[in-house]
Amino acid sequence: MIVTIDGPAGTGKSTVARRASEILGFQFLDTGAMYRTVAHLVLESGHDPQDARAAAEAARSIDMSFDGLRCFACGSEVTQLIRSELVTESASIVAQHADVREALVSEQRRLAACSNIVCEGRDQGTIVFPNAECKFFLTADPAIRAERRMKELVEDGVTVDFETLLRQIEERDRRDAERPIAPLKPADDALIIDTGPLSQEEVTEQIVDRVRSRMA
Ligand code: C5P
Repeated sequence: MIVTIDGPAGTGKSTVARRASEILGFQFLDTGAMYRTVAHLVLESGHDPQDARAAAEAARSIDMSFDGLRCFACGSEVTQLIRSELVTESASIVAQHADVREALVSEQRRLAACSNIVCEGRDQGTIVFPNAECKFFLTADPAIRAERRMKELVEDGVTVDFETLLRQIEERDRRDAERPIAPLKPADDALIIDTGPLSQEEVTEQIVDRVRSRMA
């Protein structure tokens, strides 16, 4: 069974998707990590994320693998490298290139073949797995998402300004939602969950319950 969990940044999507996959005993695919890794490889090679050719080359050579919370590209660990602010910004730029998306979509389909899996991203229910058995789309008010992100950064010892963070989140949402290819939007058959008033445990429970009822 394929379960898709899409939505914008800061909805708690990654944590909830990972937790749901653990409870269900499913594989987990973090597709944002793949776009982030492409951005990291582009920056590392001295190119601009706007450079479609360089980004497509990086996407085709990505050879991504996952081991629990750790991510690897061509055998080298990138887990921490892909979480920097620069990579975060650059990921939504490389994600606009058609050839990048084409390469990563086929890699995602390959990774998900023949297993029970939870796939998390922006286009999993709409483009990558339109026939997935169970689809979710998580949302939350941008201010709530910025607050959550700020808390995470403060916990990591990083000082940030709330207004700057909110602007960055709104700008990323705009880029993701307005791009012509695979824009961020819920699939028609996705269950939309507003995570604003809910705890991560409550969101996870809703997802797990629905998946179990589909499997029964
Ligand atoms: O989810 P995460 O913040 O790690 O994703 C980083 C960026 O990758 C997003 O801002 C989005 O532009 C892009 N992305 C995408 N399609 C996906 C997953 C992520 O375009 N399936």
